[in-house]
Amino acid sequence: MEHFIEGVHNYCDRWCERCIFTDRCRVFAMEKEDRPVAANDPKWETSLEPLSKSLEEARKLLEYMAMEKGIDLTQTDPEFEKNRNEQKTRVGDHPLMKKSMDYMEQSGEWLEKGQVKIYTEKIFEGVNLGIKSMQEGEREILALRENLEVIRWYQPFIVAKCRRALMGKEDGYENQFPEEERGYNGSAKIARIAIERSMRAWAGLLGFFEEEESALFRILASLQQSQVYLEKEFPHMDLFIRPGFDE
Ligand code: SF4
Repeated sequence: MEHFIEGVHNYCDRWCERCIFTDRCRVFAMEKEDRPVAANDPKWETSLEPLSKSLEEARKLLEYMAMEKGIDLTQTDPEFEKNRNEQKTRVGDHPLMKKSMDYMEQSGEWLEKGQVKIYTEKIFEGVNLGIKSMQEGEREILALRENLEVIRWYQPFIVAKCRRALMGKEDGYENQFPEEERGYNGSAKIARIAIERSMRAWAGLLGFFEEEESALFRILASLQQSQVYLEKEFPHMDLFIRPGFDE
């Protein structure tokens, strides 16, 4: 019996370790098939082999479909290329893209500053000096780690999903469908979820880094502004029902 949820992987956050649909996701199942190989080759997980394998499969499928339709994939269409480049330029100039890029850069810079390491060392020092109990230290470390994991996971994801949503809308193909069936609304919706979770995580860090308050508020502001632009550009995103997650 087919137990997969069709398209569940298209509008998820790709955080499989935390996903409740691993046993109903075709992508997870396909990737799982490759995992036994890793057990025999320690370098496999970090190599490009899984990626190149799926790209090769996609290329063969594309060539087969093109051949059936009599399309020569080696020929480029200058008009199409021109339009595509113009779309990319418009998307790149969109305030949503600029703001989400700002967020990625600002958050990356802050994470690179080493404040987390300094604070973690302070916690250990506090425990060693008896200023705080072992349980208090552990609780703080766990809360810090949880917020940082969320921030790191969604940091590149937000800008990627905003770009995908904007490109989908620019493309225009989906405009023939009702709002609830337009995939770009689904991309916008998962982008907003990622923004909201990231905002909660950064707000959680405020309690740890009082002296970094203004830097953290600047980062939160870029997320908030990204959300405003996203909602303005995709006012109907909530009509889109993400397979599995919103059903
Ligand atoms: S739906 Fe869940 S299991 Fe499938 S790719 Fe997305 S996060 Fe991973």
